[in-house]
Amino acid sequence: MKKRILTGDTPTGRLHIGHFVGSLENRIKLQHEYDTFIILANVHAYANYFDKSELINDNVYNVFLDNLAVGIDPNIATIFLESGVPELFELYSFFLTMVKHSRVIRNPSVKDEIKYKKLDPSIAFVVYPILQAADILGFNADLVPVGEDQLPVVEQTREIAREFNKTYGETFVIPEGKVGRVKRLVGTDGKMKMSKSGSNAILLSDDEEILRKKIKSLYTDPNRIHVTDPGKVEGNPAFIYHDAFNPNKEEVEDLKSRYLLGKVSDVEVKEKLFIALNNFLTPIREKRKYYEDHPQIAKEILIEGTKKARKVVIETIEKFREKTKLNSLIEIK
Ligand code: ATP
Ligand code: MG
Repeated sequence: MKKRILTGDTPTGRLHIGHFVGSLENRIKLQHEYDTFIILANVHAYANYFDKSELINDNVYNVFLDNLAVGIDPNIATIFLESGVPELFELYSFFLTMVKHSRVIRNPSVKDEIKYKKLDPSIAFVVYPILQAADILGFNADLVPVGEDQLPVVEQTREIAREFNKTYGETFVIPEGKVGRVKRLVGTDGKMKMSKSGSNAILLSDDEEILRKKIKSLYTDPNRIHVTDPGKVEGNPAFIYHDAFNPNKEEVEDLKSRYLLGKVSDVEVKEKLFIALNNFLTPIREKRKYYEDHPQIAKEILIEGTKKARKVVIETIEKFREKTKLNSLIEIK
């Protein structure tokens, strides 16, 4: 039997190029090797937006199209809607009883996110790693492709699985996290992480004009005032993006060496970056357009995917109910 992947995104906005190098690229590659499940984690999105259901639904559709657009093949991989698999919430409520409050508030993923998003978080947000654990363990996933910021959540999932297995006997697979080629892509504002909740992202669905604007105002080396000033390459978003998305390595090395010497303008560096990113995004935009023009096909993929995902989780939940004896008092058909 093939090993399983569970991965996905919170529909808090459209997907960006950070998602691509952080997680999507691994999904695309590994979908042939693993039985792959991709979650549109809409219940997670409510954690800070309980009053924004229309916006969340809109984002669900866009994140779904983003996944198809980058090359997730719906004939191989399964894309599904979290709320369409309610058994996950049964697991979640049980796991909530297993995790100490002190442990959950120590989770660095949660702590960092609260800090940089300046949140007054809901309780659901503080415990989101536990819902994520239910999402992962509900599928008994072996592998979880994630960005680096999510590794502590995978770690917490492993702890829950071990603790459950120790108490009730072997039930859950202990999953491994897998980070992408770029662990944490910097934002266009030079901030630590490109994030769809922030306004520092280049979206996979940005058109040429928007892309051009975003590249034009991209944060580079703030200390470089004149073209002849030697510039800093390290940590410079323009060069981080060149490294990640420009296939012409010779061109990138040439730009870097001239930048260090003050022999190339930001304008030229950015123009070449625009060309590289635009080439990268063109086929993605085209594929997205196909599904936008065929909404019935897209809808069918999501319905079938969600049905298939639910079947898998029901198998897990039956085992879980048996182990915990939650089903042994009365039987309701
Ligand atoms: P939000 O701001 O709402 O948290 P996000 O941009 O962080 O959105 P998520 O849906 O939280 O996106 O994350 C989806 C996946 O993409 C996760 O595995 C996450 O680690 C990864 N990821 C997100 N941003 C980046 C980034 N800048 N670089 C690499 N991976 C990323
Ligand atoms: Mg995030």
